[in-house]
Amino acid sequence: MSDSPALAAPEPVHPLALPLLSGSRRALAKAITLTESTRPEHEVQAQRLLAQVLPRAGRSIRVGLTGVPGVGKSTFIEALGVWLANQGRRVAVLAVDPSSARTGGSIMGDKTRMPALTVHPNAFIRPSPSGGTLGGVARRTRETITLCEAAGYDVLLVETVGVGQSETQVAAMTDLFVLLTLPNAGDELQGIKRGIMELADLCVVNKADTNPKAATRAQTELRTALTLLTPHDAPWRPVALKASAVTGEGIPEVWAQVEQYAATVDLGARRHKQTAVWFDDLLREAAWKAFRAGVGAERIAQLRAEVQAGALTPVQGVQALLPQMWS
Ligand code: GDP
Repeated sequence: MSDSPALAAPEPVHPLALPLLSGSRRALAKAITLTESTRPEHEVQAQRLLAQVLPRAGRSIRVGLTGVPGVGKSTFIEALGVWLANQGRRVAVLAVDPSSARTGGSIMGDKTRMPALTVHPNAFIRPSPSGGTLGGVARRTRETITLCEAAGYDVLLVETVGVGQSETQVAAMTDLFVLLTLPNAGDELQGIKRGIMELADLCVVNKADTNPKAATRAQTELRTALTLLTPHDAPWRPVALKASAVTGEGIPEVWAQVEQYAATVDLGARRHKQTAVWFDDLLREAAWKAFRAGVGAERIAQLRAEVQAGALTPVQGVQALLPQMWS
């Protein structure tokens, strides 16, 4: 056995790696908890585990979902998730919640939001990691995606509340991004930030059962808006559909569009680009932290104050800190 590749590897196999790869939910839950820990020794272990299971990740479709509170995100994810899980798909539901980053609360904290999916043997629901910055929460969600895929989950549903920056973060870690809206789209469109519409690959008018005529009107309006927002040479033209998370109407059509999208767009290229951007972001953050620790935050603050007072130009201020960069 001593010449087996696993034992010859410089790092010993993490005890959670094999149970995780064989699909143990308990191992998956423990592994996610490990990646969420901020203790330095846990971070080292978590990165070792991630590196070891990474070759088995990547085989899933990653779907981001957003919409204003009350639009029906949890109800929709439950309906879609149960429909998929009943067909034998293995569905993991994750969340990115900037308010939990601030307050320690969590939109996903209460599993009773998705009662049928929670108890389904093919589903795994993980609350949003709480605490830390939005960047930290997003990083852990990316790592959780990797762990869920390695454990055999082939549909990843990543939810975010429809406010602020978390949409961009979720769009940057998923294959396609779904925006849920309400049948009163006329008013609704006013409230949806243009930036969020631009991220959407699929728009779904939910609660179509409450007012079918208004839902059809909203769908038409959304189609027009999406056509205007999409460049002519885009590989995918975003689609507007209507559905009801309560009756299940429209759910199969939504999934058919997800599959159509996956068959049309080069997901491998999109993921490569996302990984490169993620690496660059992490590097920038780490380099800045190391630099600030090296020169001292007070020194930076002092130079900033001198620049603000007009004693130095901004370039002179930076030169004082990084003379070698300007030679
Ligand atoms: P979230 O805040 O976006 O997660 O919204 P929820 O999933 O909690 O839904 C808010 C309310 O809308 C709940 O009372 C749901 O039962 C209801 N709801 C969600 N989807 C539908 C739908 O398609 N039709 C109807 N009639 N009600 C819905």
